Amino acid sequence: EEDTRLLEGGSDEWDADTPTRMDPVLAIIGRPNVGKSTLVNRILGRREAVVEDVPGVTRDRVSYPGEWTGRKFTLVDTGGWEHDAKGIHAMVAEQAEIAVSMADAVLFVVDATVGATATDELVMRMLRKSKKPVLLVANKVDDFAQEADAAALWGLGFGQPYPVSALHGRGVADLLDAALEVLPEFSAIAGVERTGGPRRVALIGRPNVGKSSLLNKLAGSERAVVNEIAGTTRDPVDEYIELGGKTWRFVDTAGIRRRQHMAQGAEYYASLRTQAALEKAEVAVVLLGADEVLSEQDVRILALAIESGRALVIAFNKWDLMDDERRRWLEREIEKDLAHVEWAPRVNISAKTGWHKDRLVPALEKALAGWDTRIPTGRLNAFLGVLVAAHPHPVRGGKQPRILFGTQAQSRPPKFVLFTTGFLDPGYRRFITRRLRETFGFEGTPIEISMRVRE
Ligand code: GDP
Ligand code: GDP
Repeated sequence: EEDTRLLEGGSDEWDADTPTRMDPVLAIIGRPNVGKSTLVNRILGRREAVVEDVPGVTRDRVSYPGEWTGRKFTLVDTGGWEHDAKGIHAMVAEQAEIAVSMADAVLFVVDATVGATATDELVMRMLRKSKKPVLLVANKVDDFAQEADAAALWGLGFGQPYPVSALHGRGVADLLDAALEVLPEFSAIAGVERTGGPRRVALIGRPNVGKSSLLNKLAGSERAVVNEIAGTTRDPVDEYIELGGKTWRFVDTAGIRRRQHMAQGAEYYASLRTQAALEKAEVAVVLLGADEVLSEQDVRILALAIESGRALVIAFNKWDLMDDERRRWLEREIEKDLAHVEWAPRVNISAKTGWHKDRLVPALEKALAGWDTRIPTGRLNAFLGVLVAAHPHPVRGGKQPRILFGTQAQSRPPKFVLFTTGFLDPGYRRFITRRLRETFGFEGTPIEISMRVRE
């Protein structure tokens, strides 16, 4: 009886408008072989996660959830590929730049048994310009006798180096304590907080899909308000573009404007840039080529965008290359490959001719509206009441799980918590998600439903 009342009447005690907060981001950078992967694994407390690097093989996952003394953070590992000696300066510089753009604090790892190299000094200069908190990690200090090696690194100018042995765990606890001290409680980077400024858009997609053409088209024909935000010229630059009477902030466009020169590792860095841009954005535009089949890289980028919890718009570019036959083929492809993101608004455009570029803003607005939506608890429970009455959960092993109460715990993106008397079938949860979308819109946003089972 009581439970039914809850469903019908609802209670608004859950309605306190909890803003979406992201865990602070800690990035690990350093030259190859200084022990970054070993340290990442040590911090995450697992062996297999990162270590299995095959030289030259790209890895697309770079951030991992970490926890220390009850505080959560996101660990970003930027050391994803092997280099040849020639490229080391450029590689480490790029790595440091990306890490700084997406992190709240940086662990800069140096091999204490080798000492500071010229590359280390280059990185050090970049880090200092960024003004981000940096902890200097003197790694491979396996025993007390080697502490002198660590002390020699004072000269890098980051103050006290933290002597650690990533291999044996020595000093890592102190390092993490210190890292948590400099990390903010919530990330100042992540883009989900509304600050009142222009909405932040990440334009992402594989190389040559047309990102820079689209950016030029958008910026060129409209009045472009180009701002340099950060202090250093190497910092990623956002571009402010006026579209449809409003200013939009396209994040990390420096990475789009600047051509990737490095052949080796380019894909890895493209992936890092994608994630850095997603971190800062509220809505992602994933560009796909209407002229080609969906590549593995397209699929990965799309997955990153979905996982990021940002609003999503899919733009099929190069539509000027379409003919009827291609179109029929593409429609079939889309149905197959994009079934899992049918909720994202789609626009067909040509960055080259500018065709349909005015369709982008309505799609962005729609996606952001879904992302922002918050359903009052009373309304949600009225909806659930009707839904559950018409379509009860199937009986499983003589039991029928019931939904007692639901609440939208947060928006950006919308996350729902259902209090139930048993585990809901994945199929039933999908059904609820579908109905939520039908009823409340939620176009262009991922939705998450979690359960609290009350026995
Ligand atoms: P990365 O390229 O910076 O990710 O470096 P790795 O984590 O792959 O480590 C490079 C090499 O240094 C490996 O052989 C590790 O076993 C070794 N190594 C890493 N940390 C330590 C440490 O604290 N002490 C010692 N003696 N060796 C280490
Ligand atoms: P990015 O690497 O994603 O920034 O891609 P670019 O903007 O540099 O475009 C890669 C290539 O595709 C260039 O040769 C562009 O001229 C071409 N391109 C971009 N957009 C279109 C389009 O809408 N139609 C056609 N036909 N070509 C395009």
